[in-house]
Amino acid sequence: MEILILFGAPFSGKGTQGKILSQKIGFQHVSTGDILRAERQNHTELGLKAETYIRQGHLVPDELLDEMIEHEIIKCKSSKGIILDGYPRTINQAHTLHSLAQKHGVAIRRVLFLDVPHDELIARGIHRGLDSDRIDDKDPAIMNKRIEIYRKETKPVGKYYIDKNMTVTISGIGDIEEVAERILASI
Ligand code: ADP
Repeated sequence: MEILILFGAPFSGKGTQGKILSQKIGFQHVSTGDILRAERQNHTELGLKAETYIRQGHLVPDELLDEMIEHEIIKCKSSKGIILDGYPRTINQAHTLHSLAQKHGVAIRRVLFLDVPHDELIARGIHRGLDSDRIDDKDPAIMNKRIEIYRKETKPVGKYYIDKNMTVTISGIGDIEEVAERILASI
């Protein structure tokens, strides 16, 4: 089993592309955002705790995700691989992932960085806000906050993997199929 990290800003298209790629290469799509939303719908303790942060556009504290990530790795151990979407989002999470990968004998193969310029992110955010039922997609101020937190806390994770020579950068501009083809060609 191996891990492909799908990395990018909010609204960069990670979720959409993660699903397409998982179908194409037979890896499991593991999206921390999707899992947290499911937890919330099921009114679990984790879901309720996470909701306060998500609603404000903040990151959920690292320690709330540790167990979830290990659980997903164990669950997918006998599969071909995982496309990890939305994790790691902090340097601390990158370290946790590294330790868990070592502990469970899985390789982190590559980081696919979906590159979308700031103005395009804003435009997509506005568009998505129109018909999204997500609690963090309603208010433009919260959506901007998520992009700001990405720049402050998550971008350094991108740099961390670039320095480790693990990153492939893929332009996230264009229609969905076009980007999907680019991603496929890069792996
Ligand atoms: P986006 O489209 O904004 O990238 P996600 O569905 O990946 O959205 O995540 C939604 C929210 O869930 C984030 O804004 C954050 O509050 C929380 N979340 C998801 N993954 C993580 C993570 N790895 N660390 C902390 N918070 C997370």
